[in-house]
Amino acid sequence: MSIEALCKTYPDVPVNILIKTEALRLGVGFSQAARDVTRTLDTQFKGYFIFSQDQGIPTKHEEKIPDTIFLKNDDTPWQTRVNQNSPYYIDFKDGKFMFYDETAPVAEVYFEPAPGWLHYVFEDGMPMQAVIRQVGKDATNAHIDYFCEFWLTNEQCLFCDIGAHLRSKKQESNPAPRRHSPERIARAHAMALKEPGYRHFNVSSGSILRERDGKSETEWFCDYFYAIKEALHGIKWPSKFQIVAKPKNEIKMLYDTGLTSLGMNMEVWDERLFNTIGPGKARTIGWKEWIKRLFEAVDIFGKGGILSNFVNGVEMSQPWGFKDPREAVKSNLSGFDYLMSHGVLPRTSVWTVEPNSRLGGQRPAPLEYYIELERGYLELREKYGFPFPLQTYCHGCTVINCSEDWDYYLGKDLPNPRLSRK
Ligand code: SF4
Repeated sequence: MSIEALCKTYPDVPVNILIKTEALRLGVGFSQAARDVTRTLDTQFKGYFIFSQDQGIPTKHEEKIPDTIFLKNDDTPWQTRVNQNSPYYIDFKDGKFMFYDETAPVAEVYFEPAPGWLHYVFEDGMPMQAVIRQVGKDATNAHIDYFCEFWLTNEQCLFCDIGAHLRSKKQESNPAPRRHSPERIARAHAMALKEPGYRHFNVSSGSILRERDGKSETEWFCDYFYAIKEALHGIKWPSKFQIVAKPKNEIKMLYDTGLTSLGMNMEVWDERLFNTIGPGKARTIGWKEWIKRLFEAVDIFGKGGILSNFVNGVEMSQPWGFKDPREAVKSNLSGFDYLMSHGVLPRTSVWTVEPNSRLGGQRPAPLEYYIELERGYLELREKYGFPFPLQTYCHGCTVINCSEDWDYYLGKDLPNPRLSRK
């Protein structure tokens, strides 16, 4: 369906939300003309994110496909998910990049110039963007370990391609990251965040199931956050780290490093589907215990300081998932209601069907599912009084869902100094 037709179906949804959701859900192709020009740009290119987030052959960094697409009319950003078979594509004509649907040009887009720090190369040849990347306009995301040990036990989450992505990165000509030291992660944050305009930093990593360097997973990660804290002169930055659900004593250890929030991602709400789609998380922690730990963690980080991401759409994967999108939305919103009533902030995200994940070949969830889910999410956030804007996300850096875009269009987000920089 064309974007124009979607606007008629959803007259009360801002067109930029329709464009972004469709581009995340189905990916975008790049015309040859667009590829010829993106190759010459100084922007952050795809290839160093911890997952491929592509729906076709994963993009190599050397292909020079921009990492993030911005709508020209209001700077709405989204993560580039390449799919040459998508009905949506980017073309370059008359000196402009345009987002097209199957029938017509829809909106002008642009690619943010790379900040100076992104060009830094460490002494051993590791490029800065293999350590820390810019997200949207005003956030960063660093990856400590590009591998997840659930892949060793064949218990990886079914939608995840982290292990396959790392293997393919090793075949590229540029250095493949694997695991960074605390010193390198801390230096990278100090260099990136000293530039004005950054408001949040995020750190993620694959899971560690056994002791490492004689330390538990939590102890091992805490070393990184103490190193970052020192590099940032003890200033408490709005920050988030993603880790599996931990018991209360370990949450306290993470809190003491200066982190302001944790993402302990359930990925799927429905208990049966959680067990099927996240077998490693189900075996090592379990659905009930995960929720208990989320609630206990709120006692330490406070309301809104504990987040849980959901890979929305995977609960419609077959043969086990919901067939009716309304049932899938209902399931999610009942979970969001329960979590929010205990101070936990769920996060939505638009599932991309990565071919090298176990769910490769599945159909993406329909647009109506995401529209109804985001509407319901917003109502629940209002009902439970979660603050706007959030400390770790805003319209300028939300690239995998539209939650903060809804905030923005309803006038709830604060002006961001970086949004006028083009
Ligand atoms: S916990 Fe699941 S989603 Fe996260 S990296 Fe491991 S396998 Fe992938």
